[in-house]
Amino acid sequence: MDVVPVAPGSESSWERPPFSGDIADGFIWGRGTLDDKVSVLAILEAVERLLADGFAPERTVYLAFGHDEEVDGPEGAAKIASLLAERGVELEFTLDEGGIIAHDIVPGVAPPVALVGVAEKGYLALKLRAGTEECGHASMPPKTTAIGRLAGAIHRLETNPMPANLAPPVTDMFDRLAPEMPFMLRLAVTNRWLFSPLVTSRLSESRATDTVIRTTTAVTRISGGVKANVLPCAAEAIVDFRILPSDSIASVTAHVREVIDDPLIEISQHGLANEPPPVSDVDSKSFQALQTTVRQIFPDALPAPHLVIAATDSKHFTGIAENSYRFLPIRLGPDDTGRIHGTNERISLQNYSEVIRFYVQLLLNAAQS
Ligand SMILES: [Zn+2]
Repeated sequence: MDVVPVAPGSESSWERPPFSGDIADGFIWGRGTLDDKVSVLAILEAVERLLADGFAPERTVYLAFGHDEEVDGPEGAAKIASLLAERGVELEFTLDEGGIIAHDIVPGVAPPVALVGVAEKGYLALKLRAGTEECGHASMPPKTTAIGRLAGAIHRLETNPMPANLAPPVTDMFDRLAPEMPFMLRLAVTNRWLFSPLVTSRLSESRATDTVIRTTTAVTRISGGVKANVLPCAAEAIVDFRILPSDSIASVTAHVREVIDDPLIEISQHGLANEPPPVSDVDSKSFQALQTTVRQIFPDALPAPHLVIAATDSKHFTGIAENSYRFLPIRLGPDDTGRIHGTNERISLQNYSEVIRFYVQLLLNAAQS
């Protein structure tokens, strides 16, 4: 089971050594305690407990643990899914990581929210390349250099983001949470036909909410030039896009070409890309079983559908699963989100036992009629 590394040099900032698994102060400490060893161990604890109690599911339950999720799952989840497909297995639903129980994170909503992921964003990276024959000595420069041309293209991309689209499952989330919101907010989100531009522009103001209403554009790498007095013959940049379910690799690429509007900038795909998986059904029996389980184990939390902005392994199962849900009931507050892939990753003992009880209850609810 893989985890992300601990950033070299950050080890001493951990209150407990990052790979110790220390149990102290009511927490289990270390890499993987939130993402995702917690899930593997809680599932195994739940299953062992049910087996010891003599539980026999009336339907088939597969436990699929990939070992390379953090690098997109090509040898783990992808191979598991293709083996199941070869065997003709059809899954009613998959449950993977993704959504969490958010404390004081959803604006305007006081109770904790159980964010059950029903969709996730797709992924695309594009390489922009500005080449020029007017390179060499910098003492006789052309009006526009390769670097200047590339900079212009990047500027146009950043100032012309992909259009916002307030759509399911984000609107489903608002509908479920509206009763908890303060009056003005509730009025706006429940009357979207009237207030849509207003709601959209409010959501755009914060990075955390802008990302759920549009395909994001992030320039992550740039290179060009080796010496102060030499004009480079090419400059390159990499741009990272997280694709909204209503967009696609083709629509994002078309937008980029149109906005850059410069035939001298070569645009090509960089590395692996994946289309956003289809949005799963929020009225299915399996979603209801999940929701019921959340209510039983986390009576303080409001379940709501959610768009996961990171990639999960569940995309590999799209072809064989009717629905894909993404939910791991770790409780996170504003102070905790940085622990995932960060420093001082930990889970409270109480939350860990809740996670185990959640899987026990879900198997009881979903694996027998
Ligand atoms: Zn991770």
